[in-house]
Amino acid sequence: MLGEKLKKDVTPDKKKLEILTQRLETKANTSQNTVTKNNIKTSEINNFSNIDSQNSIRSISTSENKIIIKFNKDYVKDDINQISRKVNNNYEYTFDIPGKYKYTNPTKLQIDDIDNITINDTPNSVNLKISNKEIRKITYSLTSRELTINIYPNQNQSIINNQLNSKKESNFDTPSTLPASISSSIEKSSKSKNKVIVLDAGHGGDDVGAVGQNSRYEKVINLNVTKYLGAILKQRGYTVYLTRNDDHFIPVKERTVLANDKNADLFMSIHTNAVPAEKANEIDGIETFFLSPARSERAKGVAALENKSDIREMSESSKDVFLESLNRPRITASHKFAIDVQAGILQAARSKYKDVNDAGVKEGPFWVLVGAQMPSILVEVGYVTHPIEGKRLYDKDYQQALANGIANGVDSYFAKNP
Ligand SMILES: [Zn+2]
Repeated sequence: MLGEKLKKDVTPDKKKLEILTQRLETKANTSQNTVTKNNIKTSEINNFSNIDSQNSIRSISTSENKIIIKFNKDYVKDDINQISRKVNNNYEYTFDIPGKYKYTNPTKLQIDDIDNITINDTPNSVNLKISNKEIRKITYSLTSRELTINIYPNQNQSIINNQLNSKKESNFDTPSTLPASISSSIEKSSKSKNKVIVLDAGHGGDDVGAVGQNSRYEKVINLNVTKYLGAILKQRGYTVYLTRNDDHFIPVKERTVLANDKNADLFMSIHTNAVPAEKANEIDGIETFFLSPARSERAKGVAALENKSDIREMSESSKDVFLESLNRPRITASHKFAIDVQAGILQAARSKYKDVNDAGVKEGPFWVLVGAQMPSILVEVGYVTHPIEGKRLYDKDYQQALANGIANGVDSYFAKNP
C-alpha cells in the first residue's frame, strides 16, 4: 500500500445519512412531545418521566438520590460505558448508554446537592453526565431492564475524601473507568502501584507504517493512541514507559530492550492494520495478537506486514528454533492479556460506534514481541485503509476512547493476575 495512490472516496457516507435521518426523526418526535407535555399539569412534571415505548431506552427519571433508567430491551453490564474524570475542578461521572430515547431533550433531572445533571443524544447512544464540584460516591446496578445510579449524600464525604487522599487523588485527572463505585477504583489503583508497563507506538519517522485515504498514516494513529494510553495508565497508578514519544524510527529489535531493562510486567505494541486498495471497503475491525509459534495464514499475513520494517537478520530456520523455545507460561499469560485488552478496547470502541467489528484475538509470530521477557501483545486498533474506520481512527475522541478501553483491559488483566 505504501506509495500507491489511493482512489478518492466518492461513495456517499452512509453513516452520515443515517445520523441525519435520525436527527430529523428526533426533531419530529420532540415537537410531538412538546404538545403532549403541555397538557400535563405543572404539579405532575417534577416526578413525571416521559415513556418511550419505541426505542431501547424507555424512561429516565429521578427518585430521591437515584437516577433510574428503564429499558425496553435487555441490557448487560458491558453495554454501559462509565467514565469518571475531573474536568476544570469538577468531578464528572458519565454514563454512555447505547440506544435512543425520544425525550432526551425535554427531560430535566435534578438531585439535591448535585450541581448539574445533563442528558444528551450521541449518534448511537444517550449520554448522561453528573457533574459536581465535590467528589461523590456513585454506584450503579443493572438488572436486565433497569439501570439504577445511586448518588450518595454528602455525609459519606469525609470518609471517601480521606481514602482518596491517602491513595491517589490524581485518579480523576484523566478519563478512567469506574467499574462500580469509587471505592473499587481505589482498590484498583493500589494494586496497580507496583506494576510497570512499556508501551510501543508502532513505526515512526521514515517508516510511516500503513497508509490510508487522504494520507492517513498508521504511525500517527499509533503514537496518539499510545500517548493517551500512557497518560491514562499513569493516572491509574501504573509506572509507564514509552519506546517513542515523538515521530522517530526505532528498529524493531530495540523496542523490547526498554521493556526488559525496566523489568516491565507487560509490553504492548500499538499498530493500525491495512489491506490492499481493492479490499479497503470490505475489511475493518480491531484485533489483538499475542506472540506464539503458531502461524495461521491470516496471522502470517499481518505479521509479514508488521515485520517489514524489521532489520533483524535471522534465517527462517533460526526463527523457527527461537519461536519454539518460547516458554508456555509466558504464551498463556500473553494470551490472557490479549483477551482482556481485546474485550476492553472493543467495548470502548462500540460505545462510540456500534458497528465496530471484532476481528478477535489471534496468535502470530511478531518480531517486535519476540525479545520481550514479559507477557506481550500487539494491538491492531483498526484498519487505516477502511474509508469509515480510517476516518474514525484519526479522530481524537475515538483515539481516547480506544486508549481508555485498552487501559480497562490492563486493569482487568491485573485484577485476575495480580
Ligand atoms: Zn504496524
